[in-house]
Amino acid sequence: MIQETQCLIIGSGPAGYTAAIYAARADMKPLMYEGLQPGGQLTTTNEVENFPGYPQGISGPEMMVQLRDQALRFETEVRSGFITKVDFSGGIHKCWADDGTEIHAKTVIIATGASAKYLGLESEQKYLQTGGGVSACAVCDGFFYRGQETVIVGAGDSACEEAHYLSKLCTKVTMLVRKDEFRASKIMAERVKNTPNIEILFNTETDEVLGDGQLVTGVRVKNALTGELKEIPCTGFFVAIGHKPNTDIFKDFIHLDETGYIKYEQLGTSKTNVSGVFVAGDAADKTYRQAITAAGTGCMAALDAERYLASQH
Ligand code: NDP
Repeated sequence: MIQETQCLIIGSGPAGYTAAIYAARADMKPLMYEGLQPGGQLTTTNEVENFPGYPQGISGPEMMVQLRDQALRFETEVRSGFITKVDFSGGIHKCWADDGTEIHAKTVIIATGASAKYLGLESEQKYLQTGGGVSACAVCDGFFYRGQETVIVGAGDSACEEAHYLSKLCTKVTMLVRKDEFRASKIMAERVKNTPNIEILFNTETDEVLGDGQLVTGVRVKNALTGELKEIPCTGFFVAIGHKPNTDIFKDFIHLDETGYIKYEQLGTSKTNVSGVFVAGDAADKTYRQAITAAGTGCMAALDAERYLASQH
């Protein structure tokens, strides 16, 4: 079955839904495929307190339901399912969905986001699911650990930035670095080293996230050189070992940087190297990665798509 649309939106985080709201209100009748994780990364966040307009905060999943309702109100067609393949070699952009539909879209907005990498420990995943103290975003969740002790794993710029952010809120931050050196830029690593309430443990791996079944109470770590195990008490365990942008299916057509993020063709716009294909949110953002910035670029992508369609007439 071939379906034609003026605007296909791939992905349903804040970027995708904001793009949908703008595109639908511009009468573009957008079609959205929600993707593998409907609602995106925010559905794994407990409380969102930094999205303007929610003075009391809102849970991540609830916020995504509201964004979805808002997109539906303006006649976005939202489908569960995901896009498996694209062909952006012609004027009409062809995409194939897992339900067998072939979509011919005049414009495409890529809002597939990025996925935080996790260690993969069972205990880590358990407390991530319960919302009991595992997080991959210090800026989102650090506030909940004010005046408490936290542990963060990672040694890149993100880990350093997040450790420093946490150090302003928490009494103590323990940073677990698996090698004997940082990967982060010198300036970021130095800043962490010079922060009195950050303790850095080199050659240290996470062995287990400890807890009482509901909440995290500590982390058991292992010295990679000696094999020695020890427990560090904490209430929050932050994972900052990188993100993976969900851009694999686009790589034959869309210019990506060396880490897989989509490159903007023209800074200050949402344009990719393919005319009529735009990008919004974390699929092109390794710096800010916030719901509000994703929503902002979703708006830009819909406006750029609308202007592109107008220019084709
Ligand atoms: P990176 O890929 O740069 O770093 C990931 C870190 O996680 C590495 O230190 C790696 O260790 C560690 N790691 C990976 N897997 C594990 C594991 N299983 N256990 C323990 N540690 C692990 O990711 P970032 O998110 O930090 O940065 C991504 C990009 O974004 C970089 O280009 C960075 O410069 C940029 N960035 C820039 C910022 C800025 O300029 N303000 C802020 C944030 C990011 P190892 O070193 O041993 O491989």
